[in-house]
Amino acid sequence: MRRPKVYPPTTQKRICRSEFSSCLTCGTRLRRYATLSERPIITLHGPIRLTHCGYRCPNPECPTAPRSYRSATADALALPGFTFGLDIVILAGHLRLAQHQTLDQTHQQLQARLAPFDQTISRREISYLFDAYTTLVRATHEVTDDTAWHEQVRANGGLIISIDGIQPDKGNETVYLVRDVLTGRVLAAENVRVSDTETIKRLLAPVVVLELPVLGAVSDAQESLCQAIAALWPDIPHQLCQFHYLREASRPIYDLDRSLRKQIRKEIQQPIRATREQLERQAAARAKTEPAEAEQLAVLSDYALAVQTALNLDGQQPFKYASLAVDDALSDVAASLGELEKRGVHEAGTVS
Ligand SMILES: [Zn+2]
Repeated sequence: MRRPKVYPPTTQKRICRSEFSSCLTCGTRLRRYATLSERPIITLHGPIRLTHCGYRCPNPECPTAPRSYRSATADALALPGFTFGLDIVILAGHLRLAQHQTLDQTHQQLQARLAPFDQTISRREISYLFDAYTTLVRATHEVTDDTAWHEQVRANGGLIISIDGIQPDKGNETVYLVRDVLTGRVLAAENVRVSDTETIKRLLAPVVVLELPVLGAVSDAQESLCQAIAALWPDIPHQLCQFHYLREASRPIYDLDRSLRKQIRKEIQQPIRATREQLERQAAARAKTEPAEAEQLAVLSDYALAVQTALNLDGQQPFKYASLAVDDALSDVAASLGELEKRGVHEAGTVS
């Protein structure tokens, strides 16, 4: 049996830099000083190859020159040491705690979510992710008592907080994570149903209680976040994260694109599955009596599989659209089928 041409998801490369471009103490333009990490991360939207660049103030006179500015976006993708992304950690926690699923059910559901990207997750991994989730939720208690971390924050001159909302499901629940951009530490995590200003202020309350100086904030442009930060720390610079900002700005088109992709799938998925099954049945029936014809039917069945996998192609916010990717892939299949028609099944061989 020849290996059919399928559409493997491509690993996206993402380079994350500090959201701040100049030093918060002296205003000098920050300079990249190290690659903090370079690693693969598996997210619900496919695998990513992350390069996380650390920045520093190059001014030797600056009292906070050793301060390392991390990328809030990079830290929001995955916890340190984890290959599976934070979105998967949060989904695992949500399925177990909010939806009361068993470990096996959670495992099955996550496997199904990762299957379109050719990724798998083991049952054991799920329990690690669940442990990570419960640790996250306890984050506030842990930072309160961690004196070594408090020392580190004082050496940095204070905290730069980032706030990030992750939706584990299509429902209205959002898990908000508050993090210190300089140490990468999670300060608070909470599952909320409404994201109004009061809720965000409540989420940030444990950070206020720490009584550590807050130097700045990073977030997307969500209004309730901006208002909550402005109310709690009126004088600090608030950097809007470009990636999140673009993601929010492009959301209407992205949503439209998703529904278009859904429509394409709805129209094609069922007939193509039926066609493929029929081709395979016929090929099997003729394998002995008419091997040449069976071979041709198998090639056509590969085409059907190519179409099936093309329907799984996904987009990536802000600017990669699923329906365009599906359209490109289907056009490739159509072009290859055209070739096949011209040259005959034998010469064309597999889909290229
Ligand atoms: Zn400086």
